Amino acid sequence: MRDRFGREITYLRVSVGDRCDLRCIYCRAGAPSLSPKRDLLRFEEIVEAVRVGVEFGVRRVRLTGGEPLLRQDIVRLVGMLRERCDLQDLSLTTNGIRLAHMARELKRAGLDRVNVSLDSLRPERLRAITRGGDLKEVLAGIERAREVGLTPVKINTVVMRGVNDDEVPDLARFALERGLILRFIELMPVGEAVRDGFWRRAFVAADEIRRRLAREYSLRPAAGTEGGGPARYFRAEGLPGEVGIIASVSQPFCAGCNRLRITATGELRPCLASDSGIPLREALRRGDRDAVREAFATAIREKPPGHRWHLAPTRTGMDELGG
Ligand code: SAM
Repeated sequence: MRDRFGREITYLRVSVGDRCDLRCIYCRAGAPSLSPKRDLLRFEEIVEAVRVGVEFGVRRVRLTGGEPLLRQDIVRLVGMLRERCDLQDLSLTTNGIRLAHMARELKRAGLDRVNVSLDSLRPERLRAITRGGDLKEVLAGIERAREVGLTPVKINTVVMRGVNDDEVPDLARFALERGLILRFIELMPVGEAVRDGFWRRAFVAADEIRRRLAREYSLRPAAGTEGGGPARYFRAEGLPGEVGIIASVSQPFCAGCNRLRITATGELRPCLASDSGIPLREALRRGDRDAVREAFATAIREKPPGHRWHLAPTRTGMDELGG
């Protein structure tokens, strides 16, 4: 189904929980105000919501959080979605900490691919940014995901001035040489990123990231990278990987946005930056498919033309941010 601006909604991002085992300095996931378990959507409810989404044209689903690999039995949810929903692409975004142990069963259950967050290749720095993450575990997760075929593995790197911006060339090399797809992401003014003026100090625009890359590599635009998302990708002569830049703030891609999201507690939100949504949980719990359909129709009808992050940072929109 198309919204009133002609955008076709094909992608649904589903947050499966708000707990995280890391507390990245820019993120609200993992913050102490967690929802009680009874308020989280149950697996049956998630599957039902996705099935209704499919009726409206959803073809691709990404599981996120919080940290989705912390949700008990997540492998079973992957299997249920794969079996019961007609999806072209089922993916998951993770911090990578538990990925090495779970990659094979996730693949077996029907997951197509993973995105892994990685903001530094320096162990101490990664620990500081994530407040506790272990680089070795994340790298092992990436490797394992590749081995079992959760591919293409995409790496998400949030670039922050004075924190990790000096690593842009190293991170690019890491991906280009290993045949990975790495996306540099502009710091969004949401969640912890707007605390104490951090966002204003640390924001690095896509143009600057591109200039830094251009100093090291002669990059040319890559064609046809799978995913169809908002990143623009580049390749370097003779190297197998790709780097992309997601300019969500400086060059918003709202005009082409094809997404809806569902929060862990079952709100359907028309936009990443929306701080309110349409409650789905009660309708799902009482098995009222028509009400769930009505909620999707309303979310698509009310999808705003775009966010206004470039104008004013907010504290909203973070709990369901997926990569
Ligand atoms: N726990 C999982 C992970 O670490 O990837 C999934 C949830 S996390 C919220 C999803 C993605 O959002 C991560 O790649 C993270 O870097 C990104 N993210 C969180 N806060 C952000 C912000 N303020 N600006 C840009 N990206 C952000």
